[in-house]
Amino acid sequence: MTTSVIDLHAPYKERVADALNNKHLKTALNRSTVRMSAQRISAMGAVDGQTLRNQVRQMKEHVIANLPDLLEQLESNIQANGGQVHWAQDGAEVNRIVLEIARKANVQKVIKSKSMATEEVHLNDALEAAGMQVVETDLGEYIIQLNHEPPSHIVAPVIHRRLEDIAQIMQDKLDMPPTLDPEVMCAVARVKLREEFLKADMGVSGCNFAIAETGTICTVTNEGNGRMTSGMPRVYVVIMGIEKIVPTPEDAFLQYQALCRSATGQNFSVYLSMTSSPRQPGDADGPEEFHVVLLDNGRTDMLEKGYGEALMCIRCGACLNVCPVYREIGGHAYGSTYSGPIGAVISPILHTDVTNSEKLPHASTLCGACREACPVKIDLPRLLLDLRSDQVQAEQGSWFDKVAMQGFVQTMTSRARYENAGKLASVGSNLLAGLTGGNIKFMPPPLTAWTNSRNFPPFAKHSFRELWQERTSRRKEISGERTTPPAP
Ligand code: SF4
Repeated sequence: MTTSVIDLHAPYKERVADALNNKHLKTALNRSTVRMSAQRISAMGAVDGQTLRNQVRQMKEHVIANLPDLLEQLESNIQANGGQVHWAQDGAEVNRIVLEIARKANVQKVIKSKSMATEEVHLNDALEAAGMQVVETDLGEYIIQLNHEPPSHIVAPVIHRRLEDIAQIMQDKLDMPPTLDPEVMCAVARVKLREEFLKADMGVSGCNFAIAETGTICTVTNEGNGRMTSGMPRVYVVIMGIEKIVPTPEDAFLQYQALCRSATGQNFSVYLSMTSSPRQPGDADGPEEFHVVLLDNGRTDMLEKGYGEALMCIRCGACLNVCPVYREIGGHAYGSTYSGPIGAVISPILHTDVTNSEKLPHASTLCGACREACPVKIDLPRLLLDLRSDQVQAEQGSWFDKVAMQGFVQTMTSRARYENAGKLASVGSNLLAGLTGGNIKFMPPPLTAWTNSRNFPPFAKHSFRELWQERTSRRKEISGERTTPPAP
């Protein structure tokens, strides 16, 4: 049997504790994040990675500065090509629009290519509640759909499962004979999915980037499911976050390079599907209807609140793979569609229902590994600090934080207070440590939060300044002995 999934709606502390106690999760995360990080380093190292990052950053800065104009340009070009554009303020509006399109076209079965935007607005639930069958066609998404789980990574949705777990799920749900051979497992899924593609009435995908100049929607996949989702059913609907736009085809290929190298360590993905219009006379395939839903859901708030830099994210997942917190707890512990450092930044601002989202900016060591890995050079640690600072300004910080910070400032701005505080801390902590045999195992609230999960080592008995003075005087004594001439 597979191990249970973390409850996304449980309190934050519970989610984290569940994740830390899950050995299979730890194994699965170790196997994948280490490999994916190494592949990214090698792929970015094979080209002038720094120049590529600078170029993508420059392009995305331009996009964020010109977002309204670029979106209007995209809209008019899609319409000129025969497609339809819809604007959605929030998740409820996306679901209403897609349901309306589906009902008008008498849709029974929907196939989907991987899309975090649809996860964000819970589109599957809305379609299923209206009686439609929804089938995920990305292999990872297909497996977690079989097991009724949400994705736990931006590009690797089933990263929280080991190969052994996946094999078990496929045996239980698809009657697959016992095997750990990935090729056999893929072949089983392929046969099942092919039937679904042939029967589907509507295809739904996200959008890796949309080209404003041509009105083209681009999806990047390795399995070809993106192409079959956009090209086979009668109706094709794209759900696109408003930030997923680039000005020109040249910019699209710039972002494409950075995305492939940073996400999966590939020079190029196996497929890049581009849709600019519904089926035209003489086309061999393609949808009769082509709809693009432009989703805000808190993105303009991000701009207004000073977090526009987070909108430059190209959803490569590199920051997740290097994050020491994500590597320990995985994606579900964040309780949000978006996890890892970028998830910790955007989840509290997006209009999504995340339990304890205010805790997420604190789920970081601020080590800076995410900033180093990010192909767009997004300063994630600074954004996390800004969010923390906003919480304090909005008086969301606890009384203890406030008193502690005021005390810290008072102590650090006076040498006498600093030295006295050091002595007090040393005596007090050594007294407590003596009672519990070496390390402090219990402190009264609110410091219990620390000792609940780890010991607190006592302060040194002597300060650095005292040790230094002692050492200097000893040296002086020794050198004085040597330089004293022997008695006659
Ligand atoms: S923040 Fe940067 S590294 Fe993280 S997913 Fe976005 S683009 Fe990738």
